[in-house]
Amino acid sequence: MYQAFLIKYAEIGIKGKNRYKFEDALMKHIRHALKDVDGEFAVTKEAGRIYAEAKGEFDLEEAVEALKCVFGIAAICPLVRIEDRGYDDLKEQVVKYIDQVYPDKHFTFKVDARRSNKHYPVNSEQINRDLGEVILEAFPETKVDVHHPEVLLHVEVRSMINLYSVVIPGPGGMPVGTNGKAMLLLSGGIDSPVAGYMVAKRGVVLEATYFHAPPYTSERAKQKVVDLAKLVSRYSGPIKLHIVNFTDIQLYIYEQCPHEELTIIMRRYMMKIAEEIGKKNDCLALVTGESIGQVASQTIHSLAVTNEVCTMPVFRPVIGFDKQDIVDIALKIDTYETSIQPYEDCCTIFVAKHPVTKPNLQIIKRSERKLEEKIDELVQTAIDTEEVVWC
Ligand code: ATP
Ligand code: MG
Repeated sequence: MYQAFLIKYAEIGIKGKNRYKFEDALMKHIRHALKDVDGEFAVTKEAGRIYAEAKGEFDLEEAVEALKCVFGIAAICPLVRIEDRGYDDLKEQVVKYIDQVYPDKHFTFKVDARRSNKHYPVNSEQINRDLGEVILEAFPETKVDVHHPEVLLHVEVRSMINLYSVVIPGPGGMPVGTNGKAMLLLSGGIDSPVAGYMVAKRGVVLEATYFHAPPYTSERAKQKVVDLAKLVSRYSGPIKLHIVNFTDIQLYIYEQCPHEELTIIMRRYMMKIAEEIGKKNDCLALVTGESIGQVASQTIHSLAVTNEVCTMPVFRPVIGFDKQDIVDIALKIDTYETSIQPYEDCCTIFVAKHPVTKPNLQIIKRSERKLEEKIDELVQTAIDTEEVVWC
């Protein structure tokens, strides 16, 4: 029955000049999201509104699921669009609409008509009253409630007449691409995919870097990260994933440095390399899934020492979240099941029994001096031999 969607977006922050950029980006993402849906759609903009109009049959549920992944959408309203064939025809169409959308007629309702076509012979007040009456007559089980209606039927009289009453919440946020690009440090865990999702939700394009340590980490562990990037990309759009071989760097640190400092030194090199790759790819910030106090490497002391190597801003969107809060988002965006698959991570392989929890920057820097001979070359090789997978 539906022929189109009315797509509503939040207007905060998109006044003036930026508005068309926002709308154009949103339309591009809507088109992209609907491409894989059964059916064909025309996405258009009309007087501060975005419509996705189906050219013929389409799969409603699939289309709604796809639109729920498009950041910037505040609400998705399946729409019936009718030609203006006179007032009596409108009344008939409204009864038909209610009948089809609400099999159970025990509900309260209100009609909310808007007449932007001022040539239409009946004003909005009158339309509200007349259509209310027609609905009550056709379905005596219904009741009018003008304050808290269960069904709010919108009747918009424009060049066509739009009917809608179902409002499905969208994901909110800003269209991806309206806010630059960042480099996500993506592991196979629960937190970093969520961190990526959150930053993408603010309109940021994502690239990602994953460090693996073959043969200590398996091909399957790598595939898991590719899978996670693909899951995040349903929201963020395509992600350029840089896969960096970290084995030689890790082994070298293991040989040269005190074992309780391994994690922190390793993390400093991860950040450095991710930043280096980020710079080459026009990223303006790094993103991690760190959360204060979650593990030894995420005490505030450790975070400060890790952060010290970075010159770009580092965004840690889940920094103040409890694990359960992060898990809830992972479940919502469907990355959780993949994240909990039990594959080894390069960080955990060389991990000491008692890692330092309050590292001292000067001591860490002193330990890193033992790496001077070979580390620059190893870092360069790691960067030069990166593998790129588009997810
Ligand atoms: P996650 O659930 O995201 O793996 P975590 O709780 O396991 O996080 P750590 O292993 O300390 O925490 O990692 C902290 C952050 O460092 C991760 O959220 C991620 O951003 C980054 N990170 C960790 N390991 C890797 C890796 N192998 N490749 C890329 N980034 C990594
Ligand atoms: Mg991890």
